[in-house]
Amino acid sequence: MLIDRFGRVHTSLRISVTDRCNLRCTYCMPAATPDYQERSEILSFEEIERFVQIAAGLGVDDVRVTGGEPLVRAELWNLMEKIVAVKGLEKVSLTTNGILLSDQLERLFAAGLRSVNVSLDALDEASFRQATRRPGLQKVLDGIDRAISIGMSVKINSIAMQGLTEFQIKAFAALTKRTGIPVRFIEFMPLDSDANWEEAKMLSGAKILDLFREQVGVLEKVEKQDSSPATDYRFVDSAGCIGIVPSVSEPFCSTCNRLRLTADGQLRSCLFGEDSGDVKSLMRSGATDEVIAEKIKTAVLEKKAGHGTDDLSFRRPSRPMYSIGG
Ligand code: SAM
Ligand code: SF4
Repeated sequence: MLIDRFGRVHTSLRISVTDRCNLRCTYCMPAATPDYQERSEILSFEEIERFVQIAAGLGVDDVRVTGGEPLVRAELWNLMEKIVAVKGLEKVSLTTNGILLSDQLERLFAAGLRSVNVSLDALDEASFRQATRRPGLQKVLDGIDRAISIGMSVKINSIAMQGLTEFQIKAFAALTKRTGIPVRFIEFMPLDSDANWEEAKMLSGAKILDLFREQVGVLEKVEKQDSSPATDYRFVDSAGCIGIVPSVSEPFCSTCNRLRLTADGQLRSCLFGEDSGDVKSLMRSGATDEVIAEKIKTAVLEKKAGHGTDDLSFRRPSRPMYSIGG
């Protein structure tokens, strides 16, 4: 098992399959296309599959594929099929901005994918463009509807930011009430590549709850079912559920069970830390599975207690979110 010095058992792995993206969310990417990594630096599907097999052997049972935008990686469904087939995994899921979801849904479903998180920050086209610097809201909504109808489990993640989210409260309430899909609001973390994060742009989880109570109605807390950092709330008078991920105001480091693999094959035991192991070089120089497993164990053992976003004085990570894998 992957246990760190603080007794945290690591069972969850996030794998970034690309640093490329078809949106330019203001809180994540610069407006101009950044220098992406060379294709040769990005792990192949076979390398990722091998890594997942090794990690599963160490007790990882929950794998989420992310990016950049994972669906811009050619034929991602072939990788999903390989990951779904790895023994020992209980959950395999995908995080996407949803732009290409509708086009690829059937092949992803046929590959065995059953769970998708769609990131969606606004429900009117003007605000969607404000957040993502690109058009495409209707494509995302079509992707969500088709994902539900094909039988995928769908969740929505939404950034919580001043000047954006406070105007989306009623629309998100209507969406979750209509579809039953949970909508989770994630506090804006200091990870953006333009370094334009400031506390004033954050909308705290507590404020989001107040806005829902004021504009929509009474909420009650839902008992936690899993190790997710989100706290969910349901409306007492109707269907629908919202969640809060208070990554900045109440960091969940003490229960963090996540490990990350970047698209260029670097381990990361914490979003806010540094790269903590060069898996790509090991793989490409003929290392055995045992050596790679040791590297993973060492990364977990060396994981720090927390990232310190609660005192807002910590150092930013050396990579932005699109390059780590959110
Ligand atoms: N492109 C895919 C997407 O948007 O779902 C996957 C990668 S994206 C980096 C994963 C998640 O990270 C998205 O839900 C996005 O909102 C979130 N994210 C990006 N930058 C963030 C930041 N600075 N603070 C909080 N969440 C952030
Ligand atoms: Fe792309 Fe996702 Fe970052 Fe938006 S949050 S720019 S969709 S990687």
